[in-house]
Amino acid sequence: MLVLKFGGTSVGNARAIRQVYEIVNGINETKIVVVSAMSGITDSLIKASTLAVNGDEAYRDILGAISERHKNVSIELFGGEVDTVNNLLFELEQILFSIYNLRELSDKANALVQSFGERLNARIVARYFQTKGLKAVPVDAMSFLITTSDYLDANPLWGESKKRAEKIFGRYLKENFVPVVTGYIGADVNGATTTLGRGGSDFTATILGRLLDAREVFIYTDVDGVLTSDPKIVKDAKTIDKLSFEEVRELSYFGAKVMHSKSLIPAMEKNIPIRVLNTFNPAHPHTLITNASEEKKVKAITAIKDIAMVSVAGKGMQGVKGISKRVFESASKSGVNIIMITQSSSEQTIDLFVKGSDCETLLYALKEEFLEEMKLEIIDRINVKKNLSIISVVGNGINASSSLQKEVFRVCASYGIDVVSIVQGSSPHSISFVVKSGDTYEILNALHTELGLVKKLKVINIFQFGMGKVGKALIEIIKENSFKFEENGIRLNYVGLASPHSYAVREEVKEHIERMDFDFAHSGSPVNYIKTLPKNTVIMDVTNSDTITNDLLELLDCGYAVVTSNEKSLAGDFETFKRLTQRSHKFLFEAAVGGSLPVARVIREFLDAGDIVKKIVALPSGVLSFIFALFNRGMDLREAINKAVNSGYTEANPVEDLMGMEMVRKGKMLSYMIGRDFSFGDIEFEPFTKARTLDEFFTNDYEEFLSKLRALSQDGVVYPVVEIEDKLRISLKAFSKDTSFGSLKGGESIFEIYLENFKDTPITIKGPKAGYKAVAMRILQDIFTLKESL
Ligand code: ADP
Ligand code: ASP
Ligand code: MG
Repeated sequence: MLVLKFGGTSVGNARAIRQVYEIVNGINETKIVVVSAMSGITDSLIKASTLAVNGDEAYRDILGAISERHKNVSIELFGGEVDTVNNLLFELEQILFSIYNLRELSDKANALVQSFGERLNARIVARYFQTKGLKAVPVDAMSFLITTSDYLDANPLWGESKKRAEKIFGRYLKENFVPVVTGYIGADVNGATTTLGRGGSDFTATILGRLLDAREVFIYTDVDGVLTSDPKIVKDAKTIDKLSFEEVRELSYFGAKVMHSKSLIPAMEKNIPIRVLNTFNPAHPHTLITNASEEKKVKAITAIKDIAMVSVAGKGMQGVKGISKRVFESASKSGVNIIMITQSSSEQTIDLFVKGSDCETLLYALKEEFLEEMKLEIIDRINVKKNLSIISVVGNGINASSSLQKEVFRVCASYGIDVVSIVQGSSPHSISFVVKSGDTYEILNALHTELGLVKKLKVINIFQFGMGKVGKALIEIIKENSFKFEENGIRLNYVGLASPHSYAVREEVKEHIERMDFDFAHSGSPVNYIKTLPKNTVIMDVTNSDTITNDLLELLDCGYAVVTSNEKSLAGDFETFKRLTQRSHKFLFEAAVGGSLPVARVIREFLDAGDIVKKIVALPSGVLSFIFALFNRGMDLREAINKAVNSGYTEANPVEDLMGMEMVRKGKMLSYMIGRDFSFGDIEFEPFTKARTLDEFFTNDYEEFLSKLRALSQDGVVYPVVEIEDKLRISLKAFSKDTSFGSLKGGESIFEIYLENFKDTPITIKGPKAGYKAVAMRILQDIFTLKESL
């Protein structure tokens, strides 16, 4: 038999309840279902009764909202309201009205009010199961779970509960019913309703498991099992696949809300395994909790927030017997739960850590108790420090590891976090200490990474200039593959985006990326802002701007790395090229040279090894390759050009491609790379057309251009080509079919690099049509090359 417990979010609306049915129906074994109140309902019930007892009529609004939520879910699931639900809501209204009239709210009445959340929900869920054809029956736990009379924090009376449970469930299970039991509540021997403490539905599940010898207890919640930290605080928290009962007890005691801390005890006593799974992602790996304890290892980091420290201090306390005993007794008498104690003998201080909401009560009780001692100055002060958090590092037996203790406090120190108090040896399975509440987020995340709960990632920040096709493709690729990159130990983190006259920074960036909208709020240049960013920031230039060069130089001088696909800065004068590329490990421009092909790095490697590039012959333009290949295969030139334009690979003004200016820029860059400057008259180039628009080209230049190609094609296939030897020449040339150029497929670009050491056979780099995605991929590879030097 299995016990399946569904928490508040898992049964919080109609969609969730449908999902719960799918899970329950999919499990073939005999089962008992335990349900919580819908998420937030217990809080609302507490609020309503508090308002009512204070004579505040606003309790009716809360009651109204509670009614509406249950009625709406009923309407959504059943097409109408349900009598049993309405009857309970009416009863609740009567009770709250009495509290309002009497202005009295005992713990007993409080427990009764809170019980309505689970009672309402068990009826709705059971009824939904019935409509789906499952033999379900709602069961109020008051009928079998008999508890002590601590109304708001009751414990089970095992003997009586077992007798009753066996009787009730024995019959239901024999008749193949699926009982849907209210979590969280029970009744004392007099039949008064009790609760098991907040989050107590988990406890109901394991109590049932123990009473009826369940094979396993499944806790279905809204996260993927027990995680290495609270995912609401630590984004990288991961599912822990196995834990011991002790470890989870420790975890939940020290703030991990995922399981109620008492709920581990019944399972532990009967050795019943517990699985913690995600209702909304049931196939995801989950957590199995058993009595097997593994090697000593940090498993998780937790925090209890909103803690106060109440201190009793005085030099005269030394040697006075019974002070600590009286401290604890007065805490106990005032009903305050002490979470943790530290005591220092040298300073004679006892520090008690309690919930923030309890500290005034405790302070008052202690001051009463020690009135006399304070007068006699045996005790100097009793005071309170609020807004603290207890941080705990949890793992089987880890408290014995002094090196781990040192490591924990080293991390605190290196992140500049003050430790308010250290707790010595309170438990073998945790190391706990106290920090200011404001430091909780930072210390949890820091410890989570530094103690190895998540793989340490190399973080590379990116500030991207340019939101064109390549820029957008890059964002998409990084977004889609971040998971894969992180598996390889790298996190790419966008810290800024810039268009020509505006930019976005910090949190805004994430939103722009999320929505893929690039209308930025800040106007002007981001360069001064960038200078405040850490040096592991890469400046990415995916613009086609020729005015960005000075910004890039300035940022390079400040020590930032630059990755670019923009050839304009590089194809200016030789001096600028040299200034940009002088720190070669911090300035990567592969995408500007080879598009998607690895050209710059191949040339650089040969040069670094002492070789000399004698000659380069290249067709570096995918668009021209595409148009000319179609022409060579017999397509009408006009049609070929239009096809290229329609494919979206051309520049916004396609004549810019036809002119051959890109070929010139690539030619200059390649020449500069091999140390040659042809800018002083040694560039042989006639623009392929002088037209300024495509229309102009078709009207004025087309016939002449065509007849030139036709003439050339007598000698083979025609392509535009960059040649670097004694000169830099960009021209249209014919190639015979048996050359590398001759066999080019449409859109392929090619680079033939002739080296002194290889005489006449060139190193040939040839590759497919480079769309902006391929260029973006090349940029990414440059970024990854940088990871060692950042
Ligand atoms: P349920 O209503 O299903 O019982 P809870 O809200 O009581 O769910 O508990 C689940 C929540 O516990 C998660 O949403 C998560 O925010 C929180 N939590 C805190 N620490 C952890 C942890 N270490 N692992 C998983 N969840 C945690
Ligand atoms: N509904 C109860 C609470 O909110 C019990 C539970 O959800 O486990 O505390
Ligand atoms: Mg819970």
